[in-house]
Amino acid sequence: MIEEAEVERLREARARVLERIERACERAGRDPSSVTPVAVSKTVPAQHLRAAVAAGLDLLGENRVQEAESKAGEVPGARWHLIGPLQSNKARRAVALFEAIESVDSAQLADRLDRFVREVRSLPADGPVERSGRLPILLQVNVDADPGKAGLAVEDVASAVRAVAGLGALDLAGLMAIGRLVPHAEAARPTFTALRTLAERIRDAGLPLGAELSMGMSDDYAVAVEEGATIVRVGRALFGERPPVP
Ligand SMILES: *Cc1c(COP(=O)(O)O)cnc(C)c1O
Repeated sequence: MIEEAEVERLREARARVLERIERACERAGRDPSSVTPVAVSKTVPAQHLRAAVAAGLDLLGENRVQEAESKAGEVPGARWHLIGPLQSNKARRAVALFEAIESVDSAQLADRLDRFVREVRSLPADGPVERSGRLPILLQVNVDADPGKAGLAVEDVASAVRAVAGLGALDLAGLMAIGRLVPHAEAARPTFTALRTLAERIRDAGLPLGAELSMGMSDDYAVAVEEGATIVRVGRALFGERPPVP
């Protein structure tokens, strides 16, 4: 049962987020259709996510494979992005569930994903794969060299791009970063600028890196859009505060 009041509340929250994205695009001279919001649904129960889908929020982001699996069957019509760390023993299940994996942080993990995409989708064991059969991935970069954060070191990204380029069942869609915990949104800007310029440098070097930049969360997505984000990952601004981590 979907509660109409809940759908209405989420519709309004979605409209507010889209409106802020639009205004940020205006400031940056960008086309708003070049920005895709992922509704980050970690800790949000399936029942609310059915309302979210009804409100037009059908692209959901989860940071745990297990939690996404437990909810996916109860949320028809949703598409899922993985945005959290992926242990290699869960890579196969992740391939079966997620439309894209934004948090690939090593060439070894990419290699495993390539293998499982071929298995799960009954594709040839090696060689190139048609685009429609490939799994889109983003390489997560630890832009600020934060020891508490996952992601490739900036200086390792180019070689990871080269390695992934040889994996025919993956589509290297772009880069992802998590901003620092900052007192105000503007302070996150240097992280976003750094991710964009890193992606530009890699493409200028002729490496096959896609155009996606996943950056920006509830407190700073407008700044991220000004700096070129094509995917913003927004949780609390849509679903409200999460319960504290125990
Ligand atoms: C939780 C989470 C988000 C969303 O954070 P909010 O502050 O709720 O918008 C975005 N990205 C990642 C990787 C997350 O884990």
